[in-house]
Amino acid sequence: MVRRIIPVHDLRDAVTLPPSGGARVPASGLLQDRLGRPLRDLRISVTDRCNFRCSYCMPKEVFGKDHAYLPQADLLSFEEITRLASLFVAHGVRKIRLTGGEPLLRKNIERLVERLAALRTVDGEPLDLTLTTNGSLLARKARALKDAGLRRVTVSLDGLDDTVFRSMNDVDFPVASVLEGIAAAKDAGLGPIKVNMVVKRGVNEHEIVPMARHFRGTGIVLRFIEYMDVGASNGWRMDEVLPSAEVVQRIAAQYPLAPLSPCAPGETAERWAYEDGAGEIGVISSVTHAFCRDCNRARLSTEGKVYLCLFASRGHDLRALLRGGAPDEDIASAIGQVWQGREDRYSELRASQPADTPGAPRVEMSYIGG
Ligand code: SF4
Repeated sequence: MVRRIIPVHDLRDAVTLPPSGGARVPASGLLQDRLGRPLRDLRISVTDRCNFRCSYCMPKEVFGKDHAYLPQADLLSFEEITRLASLFVAHGVRKIRLTGGEPLLRKNIERLVERLAALRTVDGEPLDLTLTTNGSLLARKARALKDAGLRRVTVSLDGLDDTVFRSMNDVDFPVASVLEGIAAAKDAGLGPIKVNMVVKRGVNEHEIVPMARHFRGTGIVLRFIEYMDVGASNGWRMDEVLPSAEVVQRIAAQYPLAPLSPCAPGETAERWAYEDGAGEIGVISSVTHAFCRDCNRARLSTEGKVYLCLFASRGHDLRALLRGGAPDEDIASAIGQVWQGREDRYSELRASQPADTPGAPRVEMSYIGG
């Protein structure tokens, strides 16, 4: 099958300076957006680099060997990331997820984890500090990440069959190495560990039940993600989406399931427990069952722009304020104004439009993290 690839719109420059003229927002205190959603969850992309070329995120045809990654000087330093993170935390963030690209490619990432682990929520609690990785470097890094203060990890794994997995990461990376990384994370005490599988119809749906069988009874939570029209380069088509309802049906046919309630407000996954007590699975259904109503996530790009939705077209530049010498209270106020002006709900709107309706070009997921 010929993959339909759309040339990438480089949206890394599509930026707005945070509103300055609006009503000043206090430097700390809880925030709500225009749909009444609190700011609770911050995803921080620490690099735009990745050593995989998953077709649904960074297809090789677009992100080829001459792809221009961001120059090092453009990336936020660990000091800058920590400073911004502390301002978000003062506005109510309780969970920070480190993402990329592939975050473990960022040199000395443990140093950043140490700094973020020292932050406390508005009520003095440790942050829920986690990281999403493709697992390729996890076996080497798990212990150091745990010692630095990381609490848990989410590993992307799109199949157990080595041929399927190698073709989906498109760099011929063996599945055994990712499984070693998951085992190392478990040994290091990082947990609960979650494993995310993106399901693409016609590509890996036959791996759903084998994956469930493999992770049942291990304490690892397996989640199935509907293939999404993220970014503007993966050639997304609705007929390649396998609805989560079908995923649940397939597993329940082998292992009966019962619904579970969400762990926390704004949780993206719908949870299902194995009736025989062998643990749980989750489904993340951005296409067929949008969850924008509770979405409490902001995303910080590796260059210091805030994006208010995974499917956003432009970000708000905080780095300019940071490097322009703005005091914390000004940056905190800008963060507040940006969030209070938010009304993003792309997946909800997508559901009300005919499939494949062309929309504004969307920023690449590899740039702002999943
Ligand atoms: S589509 Fe945007 S607003 Fe909706 S849940 Fe995803 S990130 Fe949140």
